[in-house]
Parts: sequence; C-alpha cells; structure tokens
Amino acid sequence: MLELSKYTKELTKLFVSSNNILLICHLNPDGDAVGAQLALYQYLKAQGKNVDMISPNYLQEFLKWMDGVDLINVFIRNRERCRELIEQADLIVMLDFNQPGRLGEAEKLVSSSSAKKVVIDHHLNPENFSDIVISDPSVCSTSELLYELITQINGGPFLNKQYAEALYIGIITDTGNFEHGTYSSRTFRIVADLIEIGIGKEKVHNLIYNNFSADRMRLQGYALSKKMVILPEYQTAYISLTRDELASYQYVKGDTEGFVNMPLSINGIILSALFVEKDGFVKLSFRSKGQFPVNKIASEFFYGGGHMNASGGDYPDTLENTISYFLKVLKENFARYNNNNQ
Ligand code: 5GP
Ligand code: MN
Repeated sequence: MLELSKYTKELTKLFVSSNNILLICHLNPDGDAVGAQLALYQYLKAQGKNVDMISPNYLQEFLKWMDGVDLINVFIRNRERCRELIEQADLIVMLDFNQPGRLGEAEKLVSSSSAKKVVIDHHLNPENFSDIVISDPSVCSTSELLYELITQINGGPFLNKQYAEALYIGIITDTGNFEHGTYSSRTFRIVADLIEIGIGKEKVHNLIYNNFSADRMRLQGYALSKKMVILPEYQTAYISLTRDELASYQYVKGDTEGFVNMPLSINGIILSALFVEKDGFVKLSFRSKGQFPVNKIASEFFYGGGHMNASGGDYPDTLENTISYFLKVLKENFARYNNNNQ
C-alpha cells in the first residue's frame, strides 16, 4: 500500500490555497470515476471551496440518479462553458485515469492550462502529465484511495452521507459487487465505515443493479443466447453487438455494462471480450480470470489499457474486421500471455 502522508500534506496545502478547483473524470466514466468525483466535490464544498466538475462525455444512464450528477458539465455538450472552467481553474484534480488521452476532447485545454494538476488513480503505469500523481494499483478503486486520502486530510472520516454513498458506489462498481479486482480486508473496513456514516445500502444496490429496462434484459438474453462465441482452444468467449442490434432493443448508454463479465462464469473460460459497434470504431472490453493480463492485450493491440483482469480500448475499423483482428491477436499471443497464468 502507498505511503499517503507525503501526499496528504501537499494536497491539503493545494486545497487550502486554491480558489477554483476543477474535478475531471475519464471518458465514458464508470461508477468509480463518477463516485470519486462526486465524493471529492462534497468534501471540498464542505470546506467552502469553489468547485466545478467536468466529464469528457455523457454519463451512463444507470448512474444518472446519483446525488450531484446534474452539476457535472459534459464537455462535448457544452464546450464553451468547459473551456472557461478549465481556463479559470487554479487546481485540476483528475480522477480514475492515468493517461492524458482519457480526457478526450478536453486533453488539449487541460494540458495547456497553467493550473496545478493532481492525478488520483489506481491503474498501473501512470504517464507523466501532472504535477502530482497519487497512484496506488493495490487498492480496488479510486474511491477507496480517495477515502484514505480524505480521512487523513480531515483527521478522521468525513461524516457526510452523499460523500459516503458516492464512494460506496465507486467501490461496488469497480469490484463487481466484491467479485473481482484488488479488494482487500482494508476495503471491507472502509465499507464498514461508510455504512456507519449512514449510506442507504439497499437503495444503492437497487438503483445500480435492479433498475434496468425490460429491453436491456432482453438485449442481455439475446447477447448470451445468439451472439456469444466460445473458442475452447483459447479458453475465450466473446460477444459482439452491432448498432442495429442495439437499436432494436432501444439501447441507452450503459445498457451493455456488465455483459463482458458474464462469460467468465463458464467453466474453463479465462478470457472474455465484448465488441460494441460505434460510429466509425469498435469499443472493446476485456475481462479475465487469474493472471491473464488483459490490460496488455488492450494496450498492445487496441489503443487502450486498464487493469490485469479488466481492460478496454477502441479499434478504428468495422466490427467484422475488429473481430478478425482479435482472433489473429489471440492466435499469435494467447500462449505467451497464458504462460503467466500457469
Ligand atoms: P470497461 O470494460 O468497463 O469499459 O472498462 C474496464 C476498464 O478498462 C476501465 O476501468 C479502464 O481502466 C479500462 N479501459 C476501458 N476502456 C479504455 C480505453 O479506451 N482506454 C484505456 N486506457 N483504458 C480503458
Ligand atoms: Mn476505477
């Protein structure tokens, strides 16, 4: 675990001395990115700070009920407002990513801003694009790391229900409800603290996991029964979905979240991939069991990255070509990656 005290001193100074603090999460923000962003927002607002939030693009539907999401400025919806916020910020805190490319269209403005920049993240191999990088890949989520930081800065847990709920959402979504990822006994101690602060645990679970449309359930059934391909020689399963298929199930952003995890419940499958056709490119998600490093597949072949067992990327080609390319990548590299898994 990362020694946090050297960072908390510096962060405290920056929080105290900054007037306009801007919090930015990554492109296609997940529950951890939005959770950490909203939690830090709550904490800094309570310290009387002027705080703004930006997401590079739209949020997934299943996160839109969260307290404070309406205050997040979506860069691609309101570029002018976001440009102003970036230009007037004296401190920019970037949450849950460690490559500047994850800022999407906001990257140029952020990199040319004269604000002090801080990254708080838990992905491997951070790039050097910020004054301070607080990176701990041993925690399950950025939300877990943020809890540790704020608790030290605050001299004890920050007793605020919205803050606790936002962090709890980050922790459960990044671990698939404590099923995968690098959660530890420490994670459960933090969750115990969050429950004591007073989170609505059942409410959160219902809103995150039991809040989908009937169309989304049918899309999931279709994906599993008609679109899942098993490749026993590579212990791999993949699902692909075209834009037309998604449209026929009234797709909304976030509907395919979690699909990529499902094939991993099949006996013998250690690698799962999901291909979703977008406008001019394909969005990929990878999941694995054990030591099979899907982050390497994502970064070496699909312009992406992530964690050893959960990663993603984009590929600028048709769905059909992307799948053929994936099959070629598997053929040429599966044995090499699987070696680490023995
Ligand atoms: P998901 O499959 O849920 O979209 O993403 C899983 C993880 O993979 C994310 O938490 C993130 O770490 C990583 N990831 C997904 N898409 C990308 C991408 O396009 N670029 C990079 N660098 N990482 C990604
Ligand atoms: Mn995360």
